[in-house]
Amino acid sequence: MINLTETERTVAQKVQELKARSGSHSPSLITLQETIPEVEIKVDACFLSNPYATGIFLDYFKRELLETGHIRNCLEFYPSQNQVIAEHLSEALGLPAKQILMGNGASELIQAVLHNFSGEKVLVNLPTFSSYYEFVQPPKQIVFNVLNEHEDFKLHPEQFLEKVGIERPDTVVIINPNNPDGGYLPYEGMLFILNNLKHLQNVIVDESFIHFAFEDNNFSLKGVAALVSQFPNLVVVKSMSKDFGIAGIRAGYTVMAAERVEYCLKHGFLWNVSGLAEYFFRLYARKDFWKKYEEARICYIKDAQEFFHALTEIEEIKVVSSMANFALVKILNDMRVKDLAIALLVRYGIHVRDCADKKGLQGEYLRLSARTKTENDYILNALREILVSRPFEWEC
Ligand SMILES: *Cc1c(COP(=O)(O)O)cnc(C)c1O
Repeated sequence: MINLTETERTVAQKVQELKARSGSHSPSLITLQETIPEVEIKVDACFLSNPYATGIFLDYFKRELLETGHIRNCLEFYPSQNQVIAEHLSEALGLPAKQILMGNGASELIQAVLHNFSGEKVLVNLPTFSSYYEFVQPPKQIVFNVLNEHEDFKLHPEQFLEKVGIERPDTVVIINPNNPDGGYLPYEGMLFILNNLKHLQNVIVDESFIHFAFEDNNFSLKGVAALVSQFPNLVVVKSMSKDFGIAGIRAGYTVMAAERVEYCLKHGFLWNVSGLAEYFFRLYARKDFWKKYEEARICYIKDAQEFFHALTEIEEIKVVSSMANFALVKILNDMRVKDLAIALLVRYGIHVRDCADKKGLQGEYLRLSARTKTENDYILNALREILVSRPFEWEC
């Protein structure tokens, strides 16, 4: 048990009320800070982004937009149309522009794909990113494939296919690596699933965290987007928010069959990508930016894996092995995750994700994102202080 002080209980109450208003997603950092001005939030370990990548974007942004005054054009004029921006990305990804639809964040595209292309029944793994079941409304039906906690929520292709055989959905969703557990299915496993699900209308693969996963010692990443030409039912969803640390500009895309892109373009996607997001995608296609980003990506993966390893050394918690930039942590002693989250927030200014409301997660789970090395150390220290060397007043 953690004994919360009076002040801490007041904050807990306010946070709880805010969460109730925010639905299944966490409130923004700004809203949270406005709700509890008495607490200074120092580390946001709730949001899942690469802080080093944000730094790179910000450098370019300052140099090329602010200092030159070009920012004015970005704000005053319309950005390019969806397909023009897709051309830039097409070059960078080596994929046909016709297969790319740009989005105002991936959320917009998840909604578009589910609404336009799913049939009657959608199968989603649990735990999951809540949009995937929230955007499926009756009469469409949602069914879950519950991943096993005792196997670190690992996705087994054979078991998945068996479940598909029983439930007979027309659409399946695989988030790889999965949010909130960080479980990763290597490329070969994905290929195996795709080969066996050719009869489905849609296989949606969300690769929003794939830049944090790696297939070998060189940290190479291998997504399935290039397979769209081969599997017309494949829809790859990609958010830029997490791996590039730019959730605020709202940038994402999908790679899918050209007819589907064309259909969406005719039904409401024209200037949905902002001027800032267009600037980002133009950067994305540049070698100088990419080189810096790759360095930041690898450095961040190393730091994150080191952070997870250090977490496993705290005996009071269990850490779910992760190939993403966050880890699920289960509290093994008598503390409650709600109290731990508040203690971290009020005593240390650390914001974490209490997973009590996550479907498919039983028990006291917390999701921690990896931040900069300094911030990770700060989080580790705070956790050790609260979980391990808490005051021993009950001993005497
Ligand atoms: C955050 C997230 C998204 C949404 O990203 P945006 O581009 O910010 O809308 C999509 N899928 C998963 C799995 C996510 O975690």
